Amino acid sequence: MGSLSIEAVLKCTQLPSLPAIAAEVLELTSRPDVPIREIAAAVQNDQALAGKILKTVNSSYYGLSSPCPTIDRAMSYLGLNTVKSLVLGFSLIDSCKDIPDEGAGGNTFDLTHHWRRAIYSASAARVVAGHLNDMDPDEAFLAALMQDVGMLAMYVAAGQEYCEALVDTDHDNEKVIACEIEHFGFSHVEVGSELTKKWRLPESIIQTARHHHDPGHAAGPLISFVRCGGIASLMASVCAEESCERDMTLYAQRAKAWFGFSREEAEAILQEAVDGAVQLSSLFSVDTGRRPDLHNLLSEANEALVHHQIEIQRQADDLARQAYTDGLTGIANRKRFDELLAESFGTAKQEDGALTVLFSDADKFKTLNDTYGHQAGDAVLQQLATRLTEAVGDQGSVCRYGGEEFAAILPGVCADEAAVVAERCRLAVEGSPFDLREVGCGVDELPVTISVGVASREAGSGEAARNAGFLLRAADKAVYAAKDSGRNCVRLIRLKAKASAGDAPKPQSRPSPAPAVAEAAKPVQPRHQPPAKMPAPKKISDVELDRFEVLLVEDDALQQRMISMPLIRHPNFEVEVVGDGTAALKAVEDRGNDHRFGLILLDIGLPGMSGVEVVRAIRASTSNPTVPIVVLSASENEDDIREALLAGANAYITKQSICDDPKARILSIVEFWTTTSRAA
Ligand code: GH3
Ligand code: MG
Ligand code: MG
Repeated sequence: MGSLSIEAVLKCTQLPSLPAIAAEVLELTSRPDVPIREIAAAVQNDQALAGKILKTVNSSYYGLSSPCPTIDRAMSYLGLNTVKSLVLGFSLIDSCKDIPDEGAGGNTFDLTHHWRRAIYSASAARVVAGHLNDMDPDEAFLAALMQDVGMLAMYVAAGQEYCEALVDTDHDNEKVIACEIEHFGFSHVEVGSELTKKWRLPESIIQTARHHHDPGHAAGPLISFVRCGGIASLMASVCAEESCERDMTLYAQRAKAWFGFSREEAEAILQEAVDGAVQLSSLFSVDTGRRPDLHNLLSEANEALVHHQIEIQRQADDLARQAYTDGLTGIANRKRFDELLAESFGTAKQEDGALTVLFSDADKFKTLNDTYGHQAGDAVLQQLATRLTEAVGDQGSVCRYGGEEFAAILPGVCADEAAVVAERCRLAVEGSPFDLREVGCGVDELPVTISVGVASREAGSGEAARNAGFLLRAADKAVYAAKDSGRNCVRLIRLKAKASAGDAPKPQSRPSPAPAVAEAAKPVQPRHQPPAKMPAPKKISDVELDRFEVLLVEDDALQQRMISMPLIRHPNFEVEVVGDGTAALKAVEDRGNDHRFGLILLDIGLPGMSGVEVVRAIRASTSNPTVPIVVLSASENEDDIREALLAGANAYITKQSICDDPKARILSIVEFWTTTSRAA
């Protein structure tokens, strides 16, 4: 870091000082009692300065309708502030004229460029302020003209070192500040604000010098004023550097955010600023260089903006794609599946059309993993994704549901068609062994099979599948049915319109295949002989889903899971779980007559309403008063049990006996009561 300090910069003897006349004018204008005449006389004392000011106020830049012969008159036409700003502006530029264009070691500081930027900034600030109603355009002009004066001071004090520090900044203002801080520990904005403070310039000018790069940090009431300097600096970058679309885009954004200028307004303001700067360049004898080609700059900026937007969109698409893609197989993931299912179900329900969900679960996959390693398992999953995607084709979308389970959504596909697709999937997997040569797990290939569960909502089925979750659970049950039937087969659940009371389908735990489906399952010639130890392909059969619904009333979460699990996985049962008696009564009522519960499993010890009270309330209600109720009792408390039976419960069972073998116990109870109630 260089040895220079801010104090040293401010003490440097070669530093431009504020000319006496400027100091005097500042002093006079700060006193309210001083008559304009007196101030005018002071200015008039400096003939050269007065001449420049009169030339300026009479130029088209100020657009006075009649010529103004004296400073006195200029002050009354244009106001004290305007003349004060011009005095200070001219004085500053004059006092800096002596700064050598060449630094100590022959390094050049581009003074021409510095003044070009200053003039563009000043012109821009005046135009912007003119479009706002809350600041004096001439004060904004002066603040912007002086906002980078700290750079001059640093150059004068540090010479070659300063030039070297800025070597790679390419006139980029942000980079200039960063390099200054890196080399000296402070930057020109601090020097500028100290200098303007020393010159006793107004606070607005000090704050602009300090914060035009970060206007948000300016003192509260001056934020808008300092922003004006900040945006002017950006506009100067656009015009003086003919720089990049980046500054242009930033300008348009800030013009909107800070001042509410539309894009068109921002462009018009920029054009005005350029016109003003061209006029000022001759008045201040500063070469503003070639007139910037705004039209070109604008179209470049617009083009960059479009590219930028396309890039942002592309990144957003990439992110979305990643969020929806399974890392291992590259197909859609569970998140996508859930969304797709919700969408497809919504459409199917609205149009009362067909919709199929197909689940595939790899058979004995754990054994494959355990025997050949996880990498072999991964390779199989990747190939499964490919085979299933091909087998489903354009009839639906295949997703990785999780682990070794894949799920497909087949919109508009009815059960009969779905059976064909499902069998195609099964055969695509069984048909040829999986290639494991690249894994190096000791075998080149392995036979794999899948169990497929299908649930189809048939067209015109109305409320048969109340929601997407219902369809999903049905497909899950169908997979379990397929596993139960020995694996490597397809099981299918049709959700049809509810049959009338007379022809209600009988529940079948091992149903016979429906003819249409059986036909669809005609064996396709496998590409390879199926491996001997694999079970021969089985025909597809429908699992009749008799939608027998059980209400479980239980407040303990663990018991809820333990009791509901066997039911959820069973092909024939649906279970709704509630935690207290009030919710139970409401659930019974909500069902109306179409979706009555076939059985209630009721815990006696419930919070609030007791199990016994729930039994009484159900028996007394009109919704489903005869529903079989099996009471679950945590204890062997005979009084409780007797009371529940007296209130109308059909049977009781102790929780202890369920814990011993939940699956078998629960299923036997429910099956017993459902067949009993059907028979009744
Ligand atoms: P079933 O025929 O009854 O479905 O038996 P299974 O062994 O396939 O079923 P289980 O659910 O017991 O085991 C699934 C196995 O899938 C366990 C787990 O290690 C494996 N698995 C899940 N995800 C991945 C994975 O990303 N890569 C690999 N290699 N294995 C996985
Ligand atoms: Mg599994
Ligand atoms: Mg499995």
